[in-house]
Amino acid sequence: ISLRQLRWKEFPFGRRLPCDIYWHGVSFHDNNIFSGQVNKFPGMMETVRKITLSRAMRTMQDLFPLEYNFYPRSWILPEELPLFVFRVMKDSNPSWKPTFIVKPDGGCQGDGIYLIKDPSDIRLTGSIQSRPAVVQEYICKPLLMDKLKFDIRLYVLLKSLEPLEIYIAKDGLSRFCTQPYQEPTLKNLHQVFMHLTNYSLNIHSGNFIHSDSVNTGSKRTFSSILCRLSSRGADVKKLWSDIISLVIKTIIALTPELKVYYQSDIPAGKPGPTCFQILGFDILLMKNLKPMLLEVNANPSMRIEHEQELSPGVFENVPSPVDEEVKVAVIRDTLRLVDPQKKKRKDTQCQSLEPALGASEELPDAPLSPEATLPSLCLKQVFPKYAKQFSYLRLVDRVAALFIRFLGVKGTTKLGPTGFRTFIRNCKLSNSNFSMAAVDILYIDITRRWNSMGIDHKESGMCLQAFVEAFFCLAQKKYKSLPLHEQVESLINFCECRLAALRNKRLVWGCGLAGRHGALPATGATPGPGCTSPPQPHGPQAFTLQKSSQLRALMCRDRAGS
Ligand code: ADP
Repeated sequence: ISLRQLRWKEFPFGRRLPCDIYWHGVSFHDNNIFSGQVNKFPGMMETVRKITLSRAMRTMQDLFPLEYNFYPRSWILPEELPLFVFRVMKDSNPSWKPTFIVKPDGGCQGDGIYLIKDPSDIRLTGSIQSRPAVVQEYICKPLLMDKLKFDIRLYVLLKSLEPLEIYIAKDGLSRFCTQPYQEPTLKNLHQVFMHLTNYSLNIHSGNFIHSDSVNTGSKRTFSSILCRLSSRGADVKKLWSDIISLVIKTIIALTPELKVYYQSDIPAGKPGPTCFQILGFDILLMKNLKPMLLEVNANPSMRIEHEQELSPGVFENVPSPVDEEVKVAVIRDTLRLVDPQKKKRKDTQCQSLEPALGASEELPDAPLSPEATLPSLCLKQVFPKYAKQFSYLRLVDRVAALFIRFLGVKGTTKLGPTGFRTFIRNCKLSNSNFSMAAVDILYIDITRRWNSMGIDHKESGMCLQAFVEAFFCLAQKKYKSLPLHEQVESLINFCECRLAALRNKRLVWGCGLAGRHGALPATGATPGPGCTSPPQPHGPQAFTLQKSSQLRALMCRDRAGS
């Protein structure tokens, strides 16, 4: 539907010539696309899994506890079971027992999820629920509507990683439970239709209401919820701004890991596509309207129909107007935003209209452009629009830039012992109190621990999260009395300064050599201006791809003529 509205052409079985956009069903895995744009980022699936997301959020909570209090406290099972038990015992109050929710890693649609009040109820053996999992504080006081718990699915477009560009869809979906909500008690813990909002579960309840209207039934638009809230006098503007802030902060937590995958699959300086991705954010509103993040989906369902049981055992797919209203606009407007022809068109118009138009004037659309007939974009840019407010949170991003710099061989995601030693040596972090032998012990200790609990055993070496832990250790050692985020920031500044100085020194040395031998400097580096960040290793230039292909459909603009 989106393509029809845009008058784009689809090549469902591929074609010989390159396309503008490659649209994959599941994940990024290509070795034969060298241009255009792909709708998935490498490593996104892995980065948003429940355990990885919880770890990334924990790192940010350690650095910025207040800013990241929108994610429920979580522990990773089985390795953090003792920590979790200790926490429950510590806060144990005989008159009030908190509830926790256990979610298997990599699960979806409510699969294997259960609620507990006692740590001994965690199922560690023998079933789907014995897989690695996250145990999380259960939000007991959600906002209710018509006495029912509901959550929100919002669509977010990550348009680019470097520079970071984020858009949020103005409307989303609200998915309702089908049994009136009560705060969790030992008696009702197992009632999934009361506690879990998943559509895939509630559709099987006799109380599920399919509705053709966007503001009634078990699935509604988020805008209809906002209308109801606004009519009750709620501050809807503040709610939106809290949601925007949640989305930006979450993506800031995810970008370091994504950048490591990106440089591995699409090394800088080689031809390859650029990436964008639509993500599904699941958010729960608390009674006081505070939004809480439940999870991020790398492959949010884009179905616009639902299954209806016409007579016992006879099912039919029928259109779902609520899904259609929200999802068609999200896909269409994502394509409008990434449309390569738009830029070309604008450039051409710019050239022909340059003398007539002032710099600030809007450019008219081409006469036959479908743009003219389309509604205004449903996707709203939030980053870099609000970058200033959030850039101080991007510390781990800078740690990841250091990590990537020392990875050495292209195509890896883990740092070897030599790379780690070079990092310590180049940043001059070793001294009489911290010998190179101690550096090796730090590397071995942390790497061994992370690899013993890691899911990815394909490569040996230190993963980004382990490097971040080591970096925090070094920062705490060097800047003892500061709060953690200041310790980390001070160490990043220190390292960036050292590396910039080293680069300048090499450049001067290279120029000296060139002067003597008439040759150019061997490195392509530009001199860094004192203590600024090192250049990012992967800009929006051309890249190459390395993994196997799983292509579902190809699209190309009709008028591109290529
Ligand atoms: P899945 O990927 O299996 O859907 P979710 O993390 O989205 O897993 O959880 C499923 C459902 O459980 C959510 O839609 C929500 O209704 C409920 N839920 C999840 N986490 C919490 C929580 N911390 N507090 C309250 N309800 C939660």
